Amino acid sequence: MLPNASQPRVTDHLPVLATEVRELLAVRPGETVVDCTFGAGGHAELLAEDLGGRGRLIAIDLDPCVRSHFERFRRRAGVQTRLLRGSFAVVLKQLADNEVGADAILLDLGVSSMQLDRPDRGFSYACDAPLDMRMDPSAEISARELVNEADERELTTIFRRYGEERYSSQIARAIGRRRKEHPIARTGELVDIIKSAIPTPARFGAGHPARRVFQALRIAVNDELGALESALPDAVRMLRPGGRLAVISFHSLEDRIVKRFMRDQARGCVCPPDFPICTCGHEPVVRELTRRPVRPGSRELAANPRAASARLRAAVKV
Ligand code: SAH
Repeated sequence: MLPNASQPRVTDHLPVLATEVRELLAVRPGETVVDCTFGAGGHAELLAEDLGGRGRLIAIDLDPCVRSHFERFRRRAGVQTRLLRGSFAVVLKQLADNEVGADAILLDLGVSSMQLDRPDRGFSYACDAPLDMRMDPSAEISARELVNEADERELTTIFRRYGEERYSSQIARAIGRRRKEHPIARTGELVDIIKSAIPTPARFGAGHPARRVFQALRIAVNDELGALESALPDAVRMLRPGGRLAVISFHSLEDRIVKRFMRDQARGCVCPPDFPICTCGHEPVVRELTRRPVRPGSRELAANPRAASARLRAAVKV
């Protein structure tokens, strides 16, 4: 039987690729650091250590639950710090518009262990709980609305695009049939519907059969790709010359966005290849610090299985 929402099992979040982030961001005393995804403050704590008691750290997070972690961080950090609650897509734009400069910016995308392990947040297919998945509990649309109100075509597209789920249309149809009887309100019921919609052998393949659909719903509910696309240019706009940007992503859709953005920003001339001379005058804005994404080593994977899909890319503003 699935554990239910009355049995919370919250674990601490371990910062992913911490040594590598620290090396690439190379924070020096006196600088300004922006941690766009504060979470439990694991990365923030290490970066604050590198500030050596001088400088400031601006923390951002959508989820009001990070407040207690932030208060603990503030007491220990020994640097100027404040927490700005909201999407990094909105907050970075406001900071850049107000000409706040930064020397190092980190985005550690996705969900935290605290969010995954709190059954009542409805992120996990491993616990029966209300279908929710909002990182910002005040946001309008939760997974429940999406699952019960989006038409089957839209659900198919979400499962295919964000989850790369092979049986997207079968699952969307099964959802369509079930919700005619009553609204689908719990994660456990959704897991059962997914299992019933896919062929038996696929139920025992690699990973949990509901993993891809849950990932897809989470990305759609929180507009994760849209937030990333809009945040990256504002992050670069905020950086001072010589400032560093590091992004940790957890699936190929995110990594593709980060890779393309960094490549484009690192390019000089963007004239068509058959132009005899450059007429665009385009100058590179950043230099890539990672030609290939940095992946966790075997020791980190043994200690933290959640790091398995992490990929880190970084760039420095020229
Ligand atoms: N680096 C952190 C863990 C980050 S987990 C640590 O070491 O503890 C990812 C965090 O990003 C979560 O807390 C989640 O709420 C937050 N998050 C996800 N999308 C966000 C967005 N668009 N804006 C702000 N925070 C976001």
